[in-house]
Amino acid sequence: MTANIKTVEAPEGYEGSGFFATSFDKVIGLARSHSLWPLPFATSCCGIEFMAAMGSHYDFARFGSERPSFSPRQADLLMVMGTIAKKMAPVVKQVYLQMAEPRWVIAMGACASSGGIFDTYSVLQGIDRIIPVDVYIPGCPPRPEQVIDGLIQIREMAANESLRRRNSPEYEALLASYKIQ
Ligand code: SF4
Repeated sequence: MTANIKTVEAPEGYEGSGFFATSFDKVIGLARSHSLWPLPFATSCCGIEFMAAMGSHYDFARFGSERPSFSPRQADLLMVMGTIAKKMAPVVKQVYLQMAEPRWVIAMGACASSGGIFDTYSVLQGIDRIIPVDVYIPGCPPRPEQVIDGLIQIREMAANESLRRRNSPEYEALLASYKIQ
């Protein structure tokens, strides 16, 4: 991570050991990327694989993400894992809407990404029909290593995105395409 931090000449009077100068957005990005709080929206078997990723062997905690949040207002990473029935879709969207910015979304597994093997009238064919998705993790189920890889990709986004992500024209257009204010 430190490779992403570009240092600049220290202002006069702030030099020597214990001081360095960088830009505010880099520091905030560093903090955000090391403290993502996931909200596990687990409806079926992929959730079990997520539990394995949270366990001591794979250890999500080393990324600062050991605190699963079951309250949307205290989470910034929505992880949807499992089959989402169309009846459940409004609930997923409401949870997403209740999360404060900045927020990111992972679709874990084939079901959350595309409906998986359940190409039926009752199953949502991917959560990106209702909310924007940042990272898709393929597999049925994905292995914990893939879940960690997905988290690492979100961390890189969080570290490098603008502080005013929500105000970027691209992001505003993306939300507007989902009819989200
Ligand atoms: S992708 Fe496979 S393992 Fe994951 S919820 Fe769907 S059926 Fe279960």
